[in-house]
Amino acid sequence: MLETPAPEPSSEYGRRLFFPSATDAEWNDWRWQYRNRVRDLATLAKYLPFSKGEFDQLKLVEDQLHIGIPPYYLALIDPADMEDPIRKQAVPAGAEFTYHSVGVSDPLHEDGEMAVEGLVHRYPDRVLFIATNMCPMYCRHCTRRREWEDGELPKSRPMLDAMIAYIRQTPQIRDVIFSGGDPLSLPLPVLDYCLTEIRKIPHVEIIRIGTRFPVVLPQRVTDELCTVLGKHLPVWMNTHFNHPRELTPEAHAACQRVLRTGIPVNNQSVLMRGVNDSAETMLKLCHGLLRIGVRPYYLFQCDPIRGAEHLRTSVWAGVEILEKMRGWTSGLAIPTFVVDTEGGGKIPLAPNYLMYATEDALVLRNYEGRIFQYKNPAPPAARRRRKAAASPLPFDAKPARPHLVKRDRA
Ligand SMILES: *Cc1c(COP(=O)(O)O)cnc(C)c1O
Ligand code: SF4
Repeated sequence: MLETPAPEPSSEYGRRLFFPSATDAEWNDWRWQYRNRVRDLATLAKYLPFSKGEFDQLKLVEDQLHIGIPPYYLALIDPADMEDPIRKQAVPAGAEFTYHSVGVSDPLHEDGEMAVEGLVHRYPDRVLFIATNMCPMYCRHCTRRREWEDGELPKSRPMLDAMIAYIRQTPQIRDVIFSGGDPLSLPLPVLDYCLTEIRKIPHVEIIRIGTRFPVVLPQRVTDELCTVLGKHLPVWMNTHFNHPRELTPEAHAACQRVLRTGIPVNNQSVLMRGVNDSAETMLKLCHGLLRIGVRPYYLFQCDPIRGAEHLRTSVWAGVEILEKMRGWTSGLAIPTFVVDTEGGGKIPLAPNYLMYATEDALVLRNYEGRIFQYKNPAPPAARRRRKAAASPLPFDAKPARPHLVKRDRA
């Protein structure tokens, strides 16, 4: 445990311990942070303890570790706690290799579904634009580990142009999600170029930026970067906080700069064993997010990624966390819990509040477990007659009604 409990999460203690000679100018300069990322095991072992057995095991597979930890994020780790939730996200563990055969490299079948290389077009109206495979930090639980396991390879201009051309030629795309890797690790002129070209396409309504910079290297979120993003509004940002200890003044300031640019910030967390798999931690995280103006959006079940099996937990742990949030706290604090599938996209899971239903009535339970009967209004007669007619939706969606009992059978 830390000697002096900080009044709020902070990198101060770790900074004094690990990087005592870093000046304020260096520490607050994202280039210094990026340049001084810890990239190998020996350097990491200077800061953090490893058990002898684990260190020897990791040494054997050093070329597969792909470590990348900015000094700022390293400074959030409590070196005395081998089970530290920040450590688990950043520092390789021997267990990655113990269960190496359990997971798969591409759990969401993205590689097989690229419209053009770097572009995943799974849903009707939006695409994932994999702008780069570089990240400021390589998260141990990353679903796209396969992207960066070959090393840091910038995408060529012709590749980016081919991705942009596909969007231009596909009028149903109204939402382009910059992902990666981390799109904010692109050089600013390249990022600006992609955003400018995509903004020129009339059918693209919104652009989203998926980035972990506000969490792992918040110094990168400079006014200069925000000015570039701000030229291409409407832009939305999705970031990736997993634990309340990541909510430092630096992270807060980074989110504030983005929000002031007119870019709403939402958060996508990954449910991980020993990191955030309790209602208490998740409540603290989500309350903290709301306090810095960030809306919890998704809580992801950890995908069956090769090397991350030890971080996964049961989907019921996620459902139970939601059960302990809904009703007990602000609805704004509650993310949607989703399981992502092999090529089928995200599927939401939630506690079941519908106990029984007929056409006329529903039996519901509330968050406290109290039971209510709810009268269901009859559908308009005309609608009833046209029941078999075409759905007004662009797809044939029929809401599932579990336990539905037909009246005439009763
Ligand atoms: C997650 C994801 C999206 C975005 O999904 P939303 O539910 O709109 O946030 C789009 N494309 C792919 C391939 C995804 O995995
Ligand atoms: S920032 Fe995102 S893409 Fe990059 S390693 Fe972490 S989880 Fe993966």
